[in-house]
Amino acid sequence: MTLPETFIFTQQNLQDYIDCNRRFYLREILKLEWPAIESEPVREQEELILLGTQFHLLCQQFFLGIPVEDLSDQITNLELQVWWQNFLKLDFKSLNGTLSSEKLISIPFAGFRLAAKYDLLLRDLNGKNFIYDWKTSKHQPQRKYLVERMQSKIYPLVISKYIGAKRFDTDFNPESIDMIYWYPAFPNTPISFGYSKVQFEADQTGLEKLIYEINKKKEPDFVLTEREKTCSYCRFRSLCNRGVTAGVSDQQEIDFQATNAFNFDFEAL
Ligand code: SF4
Repeated sequence: MTLPETFIFTQQNLQDYIDCNRRFYLREILKLEWPAIESEPVREQEELILLGTQFHLLCQQFFLGIPVEDLSDQITNLELQVWWQNFLKLDFKSLNGTLSSEKLISIPFAGFRLAAKYDLLLRDLNGKNFIYDWKTSKHQPQRKYLVERMQSKIYPLVISKYIGAKRFDTDFNPESIDMIYWYPAFPNTPISFGYSKVQFEADQTGLEKLIYEINKKKEPDFVLTEREKTCSYCRFRSLCNRGVTAGVSDQQEIDFQATNAFNFDFEAL
């Protein structure tokens, strides 16, 4: 199989590949829609999706300059009010530096494009770059879980290469980047990661290998995962003969990148 040069790799589709090769094939190559819920209870999942979407929108409007009072007046859900108040306490408006929210950046990578959607990019006056990602799940995962996620590898890598290329700065220092997962339900325990040149090079090599591996695979090579628990939360489970009942989850994490494709920065690098 040879993917089209226009194919865009993201943390979401590469995570799909890591979780299950077959899922990547069904979603990204066949573009298959399969009607099944991903987790139970359905109503709670839907509510969580809605709350997460509203929270992201509030934050975006905040950074666009809409007055806080106007935004606060829109909120009717108690949980969202708590999240919003926790967000306001971060006091981003008093920070000196450059802020950019809901920024989608795409770079050429390994013969294709690699894209990342940032909830917030903050560059302070000392040249330190902070990547914020709002996580609206009801539980915080362990740090070791997050560190292995594709998002933790791709987001710092994309912004490093982007900033380096924009400034014609081949010596751009990845150490200036911090990635922060901030949970509005757990405002005092963000999970953050520093970055380094060593990590940058390891992630770059690892991702290049991964994309090469995907691109040379043929259809039968996209095998079903051996970890059948993964199937409980996958909409393709009836197609794959991996059961019909959705897994029960109260930790569903919503990927807002897939639903928000605006502000795409296609600057040719
Ligand atoms: S049901 Fe299981 S095997 Fe099938 S695509 Fe989903 S995770 Fe992969």
